[in-house]
Amino acid sequence: MSITRRQFLGLTAIATTNLVIPKDSEASEGKYATIIDLTACDGCKDEPVPLCVKACREYNNDRFPEPQKPIQPYWPRKGYEDWSDKRDRIDTLTPYNWLFVQRINVDGEDLNIPRRCMHCDNPPCVRGCPFGALTKQPEGNSVINDSLCFGGAKCRDVCPWGIPQRQAGVGLYMKLLPKYAGGGVMYKCDLCKDRIVKGQEPACVGACKARLGDRPAMYFGKRDEILRIVKERVEKEGLHVYGDVQNGGTSTFYLSAVAFDKISKAISEKKDRIPMATNVKSKLKEDINPIGKFLIGSTALTVVAAVVGAIASKKDRKEE
Ligand code: SF4
Ligand code: SF4
Ligand code: SF4
Repeated sequence: MSITRRQFLGLTAIATTNLVIPKDSEASEGKYATIIDLTACDGCKDEPVPLCVKACREYNNDRFPEPQKPIQPYWPRKGYEDWSDKRDRIDTLTPYNWLFVQRINVDGEDLNIPRRCMHCDNPPCVRGCPFGALTKQPEGNSVINDSLCFGGAKCRDVCPWGIPQRQAGVGLYMKLLPKYAGGGVMYKCDLCKDRIVKGQEPACVGACKARLGDRPAMYFGKRDEILRIVKERVEKEGLHVYGDVQNGGTSTFYLSAVAFDKISKAISEKKDRIPMATNVKSKLKEDINPIGKFLIGSTALTVVAAVVGAIASKKDRKEE
């Protein structure tokens, strides 16, 4: 697929508009939050696929990537990430599976932990993307714009949980410089962005409620109300919380009767690729220099603009 000079200039304008030094508003905590209650989740033991996972896959199916093959690694890389032949994997996060249920055993007790993006209050993925392809929405969710993403995976590098997943052979770079720029597109949970702006709950939450009735393992609601429930359950039931302070705070609160340092240890002993460390500090200050990000993004865009502009001019001259 080719891209015209006009299309490219439009895309550059969009990218440049997004390419700003982060504003304080990006650090807002957002309107909504979720509770994931590990005392209620049984991993949908009687179902072939956990219903929350099934609902997520069905709801987002039309947005899953369809790579152009054969896929080529872009210079100087020697490899690429291709999950397109492993679309059935439900035991981890992939570009085709934005939620999975992590299964561990702690002191003889089986635990099922639904895992997806935590939707951090001040997300380093948003601040770290050199192309401004990620945004923090007023609803509290962080969202990847797949039409701007070059698949450089900076968002995954700075995410303490390694949440965004890359698929090669798709995205803007395929139209620009497939051999020399970009590694694909990153994918992750966006908290069902189109549903929540309409006041609907995320598909996974609805599926869990449909199965478990008035004691579901997932609750979604206004942040104030969710925080009130978390506080009340911690006080009354002595539950442990995860997600309230990790990475500077998130809008996903796990509740558990088992301490999270034990859960974290069990996950790390299993060598699961999606960790759950308890001592997660925000990487914003130490790892991400917003000026550096601005310069990297500007430079990259300038180089791409120059090359594509030259190609487009040459093509235009030939057509005259
Ligand atoms: S969160 Fe609900 S739907 Fe998902 S695995 Fe647990 S019980 Fe099943
Ligand atoms: S969990 Fe990771 S991908 Fe999700 S908002 Fe936080 S830093 Fe970004
Ligand atoms: S909120 Fe939506 S996108 Fe995120 S895991 Fe649930 S169903 Fe999937």
